Amino acid sequence: MKHAYRCACFAVPAKLARKLASRAQASEQHQLHGHIEAAARLRTLRGVASTRATHPALPGAQASELNYQRVVFDLAQGVDLPGHPVRDEGGKPVPDAAANHVYDNTGITLDFYLKVFGRRSIDNCGSRVESSVHFGQNFGNAMWTGKSMVYGDGDQNVSGFPAALDIIAHELTHGVTQHMIKGGLGVVPVAPKDREFKEQTHDLRGQSGALNESFSDVVGSMVKQWHAGQDVTKANWLLGEHLLAARHGRAIRSLKDPGNRALTWYEDEQYKSMDDYADGADVHDSSGVPNHAFYLAAQHLGGFSWEKTGAIWYEAFAKLTPAATFKDAARVTRQVASQRFGVGSKEHKAVTSAWQAVKVIT
Ligand SMILES: [Zn+2]
Repeated sequence: MKHAYRCACFAVPAKLARKLASRAQASEQHQLHGHIEAAARLRTLRGVASTRATHPALPGAQASELNYQRVVFDLAQGVDLPGHPVRDEGGKPVPDAAANHVYDNTGITLDFYLKVFGRRSIDNCGSRVESSVHFGQNFGNAMWTGKSMVYGDGDQNVSGFPAALDIIAHELTHGVTQHMIKGGLGVVPVAPKDREFKEQTHDLRGQSGALNESFSDVVGSMVKQWHAGQDVTKANWLLGEHLLAARHGRAIRSLKDPGNRALTWYEDEQYKSMDDYADGADVHDSSGVPNHAFYLAAQHLGGFSWEKTGAIWYEAFAKLTPAATFKDAARVTRQVASQRFGVGSKEHKAVTSAWQAVKVIT
């Protein structure tokens, strides 16, 4: 199967979801149970998605004229994907705000890929992009299933996924990575004894899994900056702002200062240097290393992050192999920078010094 691969990414990492639940009042505990059941179901779907052809081609002439085609479905708190179609490409806004937010933010993300990188939809062939809103009851997460995007309504701990542009760009980018790198980036089978749920068969692991996560964060951050017209100094480099209830924190992650709990959430364990890296690290923690390398390179070059640093990252990440390491990412981004801008150019130097600062290379 050409794109047989299951991305394992929820917007809210398992560790954060567990922490929120452990802090929750007894009255909220039943919702955690609902979340685990729903998550288990989504993980099952991920396996199913991998056995089907992803993104059926559009029929006839229409396919060649459209750069992408969005469809938003309403699950009405159910869990049987995809749900009832409520808004199709070009359709007018509907009464449901969540459906409109997802339609709009998916469009902004797809426009970013088209206008900045010349990419036509997730597969670069103008594919349909399916999203389902109102998944389950009080489901506090969003996810790329391997075939489509799914959004829950959330609860009193975490909510607001359809309105979070960077989260939608993050999830959609897991789909882009799936299509860019045959065999996926960092996707590994999970041994039965290590499965969080019995249905869980694949997960993102190791440095390559962290690179997969990081690329989604990098694009999520760039799309947010692009839409707001922010340069690298104006941007706050937070991902998933306003999702968490104020008592838990302000954002899911920071590219500017990974693991700074004053900027993110109360037990954020992300880090930004290989000094803190250990084998077997959670990919949402170790992704701070390549995230921060991107941030530093963008700061060195100034201006808009997507113009040079983003272009280098996009071209380089497409060249990574499924088991790529941080050193591979450093090597390929430096190579692309030197090919595009010249050996010893300020772009080449900026990328090199960024990877040195996070101690991936010396
Ligand atoms: Zn992710």
